[in-house]
Amino acid sequence: MTASFSQLSLAEPLARAVAEMGYETMTPIQAEAIPVVLTGQDVMGAAQTGTGKTAAFSLPLLQRLLKHENTSTSPARHPVRALVLLPTRELADQVAQQIKLYAKYTQMRSTVVFGGIDMKPQTLELKRGVEILVATPGRLLDHIEAKNAVLNQVEYVVLDEADRMLDIGFLPDLQRILSFLPKQRTTLLFSATFSPEIKRLASSYLKDPITIEVARPNETASTVEQRFFSVQDEDKRRLVKQVLQQRGLKQAFVFVNSKLGCARLARSLEREGLNTTALHGDKSQDERLKALEAFKKGEVDLLVCTDVAARGLDIKDVPAVFNFDVPFNAEDYVHRIGRTGRAGAAGLAVTLVSPSDTRLVSDIEKLIKNKIEVEAFEFEDGRPRDHFNDGHRAERHPERNIEQGSDRHTERYPRRRDDAQPRAGAEPRERRGGFKPAQPSRDPFFEQPYEAPNAEQAQAASWEASPKSVATRGSVSANIKPKRKVAALFKTAE
Ligand code: AMP
Repeated sequence: MTASFSQLSLAEPLARAVAEMGYETMTPIQAEAIPVVLTGQDVMGAAQTGTGKTAAFSLPLLQRLLKHENTSTSPARHPVRALVLLPTRELADQVAQQIKLYAKYTQMRSTVVFGGIDMKPQTLELKRGVEILVATPGRLLDHIEAKNAVLNQVEYVVLDEADRMLDIGFLPDLQRILSFLPKQRTTLLFSATFSPEIKRLASSYLKDPITIEVARPNETASTVEQRFFSVQDEDKRRLVKQVLQQRGLKQAFVFVNSKLGCARLARSLEREGLNTTALHGDKSQDERLKALEAFKKGEVDLLVCTDVAARGLDIKDVPAVFNFDVPFNAEDYVHRIGRTGRAGAAGLAVTLVSPSDTRLVSDIEKLIKNKIEVEAFEFEDGRPRDHFNDGHRAERHPERNIEQGSDRHTERYPRRRDDAQPRAGAEPRERRGGFKPAQPSRDPFFEQPYEAPNAEQAQAASWEASPKSVATRGSVSANIKPKRKVAALFKTAE
């Protein structure tokens, strides 16, 4: 997609802001959504964070609101015209910051309100008058009740990350908020997946929406090289190290399925001389901020994390993602590998498949609608193991149904007979044998934007024999004050 912003005839202040951001061509969601939003039609867009969807809705929205632009100091001249709702404070803050940049050369005012911090400064901003209000549902309702926010002149409402808002249980809040808005308005809904719940929401609140599906739900980024290696559990760390070395990778995410496994793996990788830190729900917010910041600055090479870290991160250029454990939910695979290969950058996703993972791999295969080839890994020290041909472990499991001996190096996973589809935001399926996989995680803490360390910040990776460095500082947007454990608020389960 090479559509350029100049084709849009954006107003000069917006075009200038876009040029200043360094955007040259539109991302697919922008190329599709902007012309539609400019016509004022409702949109139902399937797009994840990192696809450029914030600009996709905010640029045309700003363009259409420019007719109201004025320099009056009277709050009455600056009623809320556009409302953008997001599930978490970090996402809200991230989107609000972007909107401010796009609106920089206009007279349009914008602000953000979210919970966990003092209402007073937000109230002052609202009372001054803002055309664009970015909010999380709960705090917005507080402001509505306190009569700080009046929404009867809203022309546009954006339900961003709608699937996650439903996951978190915001539906009643959304319904209440939407009841305060004029019926005559444009509604834009963005969601990573179009689950039945999302479709129901859309059918209740959107009018003849245009559906835009550029990054189709459950599709993995085409720029990501996806490799699956069969490996024994005890060889997994060796495999990770070898891939890092062979590919000359500086940093990577390593995903595991449990908090305990996360801490344990981080410790053993650290013991083996890799600069590693762990991110999971048991860490305090301060610890997590520090870990994330250290990773961003390049002081940490490997971030071992649970799925809480997988969603919503605005990550650029993380060169590789390892699925140390195959995720219990196939959808988490898509979210995990979405951390790499973003915005056109090439990425590598390596999934370590142990003998008991066959069924999970088959779930992934079904979800991404691509055949998965599980390769034997060639260890440099000449100790390759192919567990599918490895004596006692190679017994045919009734559920795995793997043909043996047909090909030593590549096994194809047959499709399962049952056609149960993984469901977005739904309870994960129970695996046979009574094991309950973790709930899909929803930890808003991890909605921090991530920028890859720049050249000066980046240090040689620890597998390239650099001395260890220690994370010292954490920083987030000035709007976010670490106050309490967000994970606890949302009852994060892993
Ligand atoms: P979003 O999906 O809106 O969170 O955007 C993800 C990242 O892509 C943000 O850092 C944006 O600044 C960036 N971005 C958005 N649109 C473009 C574009 N057309 N070209 C380059 N980067 C972009």
